[in-house]
Amino acid sequence: MTTHTLTGRNLIDGQWVGSDPKTTRAVNPATGAVLEPGFHAATADEIEQAFAAAMSAYAATRDLPATRWADLLDAIADQIMALGDQLLTTGQNETALPPARLTGERARTTGQLKLFAALIRDGSWVDAVIDRADPNRQPLPKPDVRRMNQSLGPVVVFGASNFPFAFGACGGDTASALAAGNPVLVKAHTGHPATNELFAAAVLAALRQTNLPTGLFSLLQGSGTKVGAAMVKHPAAMAVGFTGSKSGGCALFDLAAARPRPIPVYAEMGSLNPFVILPGALRERRDTIAEGLAGSITLGGGQFCTKPGLVFVLDGPDADAFVAKLTEKISAAPAFTLLNAGIQKSFHEMTGKFQQVDQVKVRVAGACTATAGATASLYEVTASRWISEATLRDEAFGPASLVVRCENERQLLDAIELAGGNLTGSIHTGSADDTELVRRIVRVFEQTVGRIVFNGYPTGVEVCHAMVHGGPYPATTTPGFTSVGTSAIRRFVRPVAYQNTPDALLPAELRNANPRGILRLIDGKATRDSI
Ligand code: NAP
Repeated sequence: MTTHTLTGRNLIDGQWVGSDPKTTRAVNPATGAVLEPGFHAATADEIEQAFAAAMSAYAATRDLPATRWADLLDAIADQIMALGDQLLTTGQNETALPPARLTGERARTTGQLKLFAALIRDGSWVDAVIDRADPNRQPLPKPDVRRMNQSLGPVVVFGASNFPFAFGACGGDTASALAAGNPVLVKAHTGHPATNELFAAAVLAALRQTNLPTGLFSLLQGSGTKVGAAMVKHPAAMAVGFTGSKSGGCALFDLAAARPRPIPVYAEMGSLNPFVILPGALRERRDTIAEGLAGSITLGGGQFCTKPGLVFVLDGPDADAFVAKLTEKISAAPAFTLLNAGIQKSFHEMTGKFQQVDQVKVRVAGACTATAGATASLYEVTASRWISEATLRDEAFGPASLVVRCENERQLLDAIELAGGNLTGSIHTGSADDTELVRRIVRVFEQTVGRIVFNGYPTGVEVCHAMVHGGPYPATTTPGFTSVGTSAIRRFVRPVAYQNTPDALLPAELRNANPRGILRLIDGKATRDSI
């Protein structure tokens, strides 16, 4: 076990530094207690030093074999585990997330680091494509063209409040950016600065253990609008990974687009996650669905970007019985401590707005409880009213959901289309449900969501090769990508083509001999053969 003594400082090129005399402290959301130590925000000079270290580390590691990066990712996972209970206790003090949840999230965090290590050890992820030359082609000879993904350079990462581990300083964005061979600069979330520092200490220990330059990873404390904005504006920044609010993601996207040299911002933001229950499913298993859905709405205090915030049913007696059961289950949910007082405030403002819309029925009235606490709420409205009232399409981040009752299938299809860009869309079907209707719902979701869930619940995102945790705006700013699963690495690379390039000057992955033995597409055929 390793115990790290918290410094309250920034990690830059292997040193804990903090020259700003002012400090800010985190608050325990469960008790309201102010936590020690105070944290020094990174100064403009320190931000500059972090980028200079990242650039020099990047230059020194461009030609490293992938195995060295894989060893680093594995070592980070091991160093996270070595932090033991200190990490869990610190995380709990700063977020009020219970130990079981944080233990699970730690396993996910180390699991995704190891998954990326395995991905880059295999090497085929670079997407090597070779089109061989044909000097005899008429009317013009065909050149030899070879392509593969290459790293970008320094990547800026913003973690989220609701996943302090899995979307934190060593979360999926950091893991995928490092796996692709990029230095990472993390803007620490102000909600859990000490948790961030512990993760940074784990990375520093791993860099030393694997004998890699310490400039490959920096952790900068301070506010998003000052420190975070300066990082995104820095000329050496090449891309941004972000998880959090729509307002934050859009602000950073605009900032990056306004740079003299714009860079991509991969922002994963809010989501309503439409959840459709067809009449056959309501008839056959409405109580089971009500129970599962109530669990999904309130899981983690509803603070998941995949929480089902909109539930669509077709009118009828089964829908009445279903809403009654869901009401019973939501009413029985315990009070939750939310992640911080700011989230509690915005949750109550948002649910307050829902209640003020005429014709919205309050099935369960949530309430603010002590410190950052809240109880769950449930609302119901007709589809025609929902379609006419844009406020009801805003996200209430917390334990709340809205049931939308549709008069007919046409209205259901119109409504789910109006639900817009989302991370997920779920469909519950029964044996008697019209397969043509199901097909049409799938067609709408294919255009509007990143992941379609059948007869299940959208909370709980499997970290695997096939996962898509993304979707059209406003779910993300870049609908062609995912922030979870191994494809997340594609955000932090750029395809480079080499035309008629001498073999010795090609990256190993594109050389004739295929020394890494990776899978390549040669003249349109997938093979591990050499040329
Ligand atoms: P957040 O407030 O967007 O913060 C995420 C990170 O971005 C933080 O480091 C934050 O800095 C920074 N940031 C935020 N706005 C910025 C801006 N305008 N310019 C520069 N940097 C900015 O997200 P969150 O803390 O995870 O969640 C807070 C709110 O987001 C909730 O109230 C909720 O309504 C909404 N939300 C979050 C999610 C999610 O998946 N996390 C999903 C839906 C909705 P600071 O450290 O200074 O705050």
